[in-house]
Amino acid sequence: MDIALIRNFAIIAHIDHGKSTFADRLIEYCGGLAEREMQSQVLDSMELERERGITIKAQTVRLLYRKESKVFCLNLIDTPGHVDFAYEVSRSLAACEGSLLLVDSSQGVEAQTLANAYLAVENDHKIIPILNKIDLPSSEPERVQKEIEEVIGIDTQNIVLTSAKTGAGIKEVLDSIINFLPNPEGDLQKPLKALLVDSWYDEYLGVVVLVRVKDGILRKGLKIYMMASNASYTIDSVGVFTPKKEMVEELCAGEVGFITANIKKIPDCYIGDTITEDKRRCNTALPGFKKMQSVVFCSLFPADSGDFENLRDALLKLSLNDSSFEYDVENSVALGHGFRCGFLGLLHLEIVQGRLEREFDLDLITTAPSVVYKMYMRNKEIIELHSPADMPDIMQIEFFEEPWVLATILVPGNYLGAILNLCTERRGEQVRLDHAGDRSMAVYKLPLAEIVFDFYDRIKSISCGYASFDWELADYLQADIVKLSILVNSEPVDALSCMVHKSFAEQRGRALCKRLKDLIPQQLYKVAIQAAISGKIIARETISALRKDVTAKCYGGDITRKKKLLEKQKKGKKRMRTFGNVNIPKNAFIDALKIDYDK
Ligand code: GDP
Ligand code: MG
Repeated sequence: MDIALIRNFAIIAHIDHGKSTFADRLIEYCGGLAEREMQSQVLDSMELERERGITIKAQTVRLLYRKESKVFCLNLIDTPGHVDFAYEVSRSLAACEGSLLLVDSSQGVEAQTLANAYLAVENDHKIIPILNKIDLPSSEPERVQKEIEEVIGIDTQNIVLTSAKTGAGIKEVLDSIINFLPNPEGDLQKPLKALLVDSWYDEYLGVVVLVRVKDGILRKGLKIYMMASNASYTIDSVGVFTPKKEMVEELCAGEVGFITANIKKIPDCYIGDTITEDKRRCNTALPGFKKMQSVVFCSLFPADSGDFENLRDALLKLSLNDSSFEYDVENSVALGHGFRCGFLGLLHLEIVQGRLEREFDLDLITTAPSVVYKMYMRNKEIIELHSPADMPDIMQIEFFEEPWVLATILVPGNYLGAILNLCTERRGEQVRLDHAGDRSMAVYKLPLAEIVFDFYDRIKSISCGYASFDWELADYLQADIVKLSILVNSEPVDALSCMVHKSFAEQRGRALCKRLKDLIPQQLYKVAIQAAISGKIIARETISALRKDVTAKCYGGDITRKKKLLEKQKKGKKRMRTFGNVNIPKNAFIDALKIDYDK
């Protein structure tokens, strides 16, 4: 493949602005799939992606675009838009030279439009701005174009108007990609140098590695060397996605594709690593990726303790596909053997939990998620606290520090007041407030613990979906933090306990007890739920006793139906966990935290 005919680009946008649908139109236009194979958001292949209607994993596709007598090779990377998956976006961008910045012309510039556009600029990308959804009656292309110039500050001379629904403007975008985006640079003669962009486990192929070749050629039979993991393998297949898997002879400098190499040790595939030829190695490695910092931690335990090894195996395989989550073995008196895991946010946590349950058929118990606090001990040690269960005796702690973030919120003027109130209630400190047209941009410093669980949902609900939000970790600051213990029938349940700011402790203790009262089903005896701080009870709820007989409804003699119901009930029981003689549904641990604290 002539390198002058290659274009590598990413599609970046705020969530729901139409990236995946737009990718469908490009695939369709270039004839990547027959009509009968086409379905909406065809690249969102994961079951969870289809259900939630969001893109979680970046996907790549090679498209062939004929123009005059030339055939161009376009490598498209569809990226996720949600803030928790920013890591996927930054990795995809490192594999290409240009970005299509898609903006919904009926909405405007949103927080992730801004964040992703900055990422593209940082990666030295040429950017083609695109106003999508022009078929909608509420589309306002002029206003949104002006917003792109004023809020993001990029040139919009080459802007294209499109509808990913009707296909309008798609050809113009393809021509713009050819004319405006640079072809990759690379030298076929130099020793092989390829970036390990992503990897995953395929049931048939084993470990599959997605690469972007920078110099040289990758072909079947070649012995490769992975520089960071210091491992050697022989390539046994090379291919591209069209978007179907298609085997090819080789991948040359400038190209994107996948390889398999009978890789047995999953940790050998280090995302961001440089792959070179074993016999003829390149001198310097590529810069790789910045390691993402986990901000939410929780522990995962198999509901059935016999599943521990299966869980370990599943985590290993999943971490291959998602390098942004980390895990470590942990033992708990109440829950047995499990793993402490770190995530980029609550959505990331829920997605990983969902994938483990579906893709690996595991039944899991998840403890209440927590951010990481720093404890300054009287003996001058500094200890990171990942879980309330590990909190030492309060007398040994001199003070706590908690993580703060810098948050950017974009919101139409009429909702600004409500948003500012919310930030203040969450202990926020205003850094800046700017206005561009009808929109305001508020920059706040906020404690991570106050935004990580429900802030996104709250912002969406008080602005009727119009506000958007992005954040990054800033620093650690001293704070009055206490442990809020939850007791079920007088027995402390660490999996439900949490760390909170002292000023919110009583309010949250009451809210948590109320919420748990709704989440824990009635039992055969009375159940007391209490919240306590340093041994002092601050809230209490009681669940009254009930004899639950599921067969009560089946009067008469249909014994098989009764049996079926009892079976079902037994299965349901497996999904519970017993504390202080009380069965707690496994989802209660996370659900309890999603309290609407502001009510
Ligand atoms: P993503 O989150 O950026 O990948 O967005 P999706 O491709 O999943 O699209 C979000 C929603 O917008 C879906 O319901 C699409 O059908 C819809 N959509 C995407 N592009 C257009 C368009 O050009 N016009 C209209 N009317 N709807 C669109
Ligand atoms: Mg998508």
